[in-house]
Amino acid sequence: MRKVSVFGATGSIGQNTIDLIRRDPDAYNVVALSGAGNIRQLAQDAIDLGAEIAVTAHDHRLDDLRSALAGSGVHAAAGEHALIEAAARPADWIMSAIVGAAGLAPGLQALKQGTTLALANKESLVTAGPLLLAEAQAHGARILPVDSEHSAVFQALAGEDIAAVERIIITASGGPFRDWPLEKLRSATLDMACTHPNWDMGKRITIDSASMFNKAMEVIETREYFGVKPAQIEVLVHPESLVHALVGFRDGALMAHLGAPDMRHAIGYALNWPERRDLPVARLDLARIGQLSFHAPDEQRFPALRLAREVMETRGLAGTVFNAAKEQALDHFIAGDVGFTDMSELVEQTLNDLSAELSLNGDILTLDRVLEMDAQARRITEHTAVRMN
Ligand code: NAD
Ligand code: MG
Repeated sequence: MRKVSVFGATGSIGQNTIDLIRRDPDAYNVVALSGAGNIRQLAQDAIDLGAEIAVTAHDHRLDDLRSALAGSGVHAAAGEHALIEAAARPADWIMSAIVGAAGLAPGLQALKQGTTLALANKESLVTAGPLLLAEAQAHGARILPVDSEHSAVFQALAGEDIAAVERIIITASGGPFRDWPLEKLRSATLDMACTHPNWDMGKRITIDSASMFNKAMEVIETREYFGVKPAQIEVLVHPESLVHALVGFRDGALMAHLGAPDMRHAIGYALNWPERRDLPVARLDLARIGQLSFHAPDEQRFPALRLAREVMETRGLAGTVFNAAKEQALDHFIAGDVGFTDMSELVEQTLNDLSAELSLNGDILTLDRVLEMDAQARRITEHTAVRMN
């Protein structure tokens, strides 16, 4: 039996992961599950799956979690420290599906045990990619991508030499505002941004898809995962969300990955890797689908994409600032105190304000540096957001 843990178990990726685990209960021994506010779901899943431990990120919910687990034999724990301790519990496969930079520390801890980390938490790669990769290498751990585009690229690269890759193209649905003029985008509301045409995902990533910040993060993710140059990464708008990514080789061949928009494919691929096993995802009927469409993205209406390129050119702590400012700007948009297009302005302004401090001056990236810069960037974004109001 394989020992598995799921961090962010109560979220969209976490629940899809649990769905796959439940379908083959004899194959897995569940070590740790984590969540935040949804104690009932966390406790129920931990009991059903016979987990060793359930952890809520919220310290003040420990008593609630204890009561929900009473008599079940599942250990209850709470807080940031408990999350890290749970990530240190030996497991063969660990899903990192916490949303936001909060996923970084547990992810790093998991890598220290030399395990396989299925990484959905793209924020940790954007904020501290080189740190995660160095930690994986130092401990003989493996990071497998759990983002539909990056799983697709990873699959297209199987058996190939990365040196033969000319370009990597990741697709974007374009979100609900794909064809909106800039003027109209300014008045886009939270409700409108929370409705994704093709994917059913957590609230934050859904809004990031509407602003293209999700794609911007994924461009940076591509750079970190596959080590290609920024100029080799392209974004292609593909409203049907059936082609997830394409890899172009030096001989002109383009290998595309197609599949239904269902995250259980990318999760299941990482869970079963290096094998392929049956997965409960819809099979595409291309004759019925008939046509697929593609067009170039508009960086003027969606400045997040341009900012991602600037971040990749700058390197150093630019990704940390980009991610922190984006998370903060998103909080403000959700709270209703900045507009939809203000989010990219806030991120750009924060990057500009900190431009003199982004270089690592030859130092290696450490967790302390990341956390320090993350906090500083959040403070600056906060200030700018208040001034904007
Ligand atoms: P979600 O909001 O549905 O779930 C987030 C999970 O993180 C929940 O379990 C929640 O309890 C937990 N959490 C929230 N704040 C926390 C904190 N401060 N500390 C610890 N835990 C916390 O999000 P999701 O859509 O499942 O996305 C999870 C991650 O996967 C994100 O990084 C997202 O970008 C990435 N991702 C998601 C999808 C998708 O289809 N949903 C696709 C690709 C990548
Ligand atoms: Mg994606």
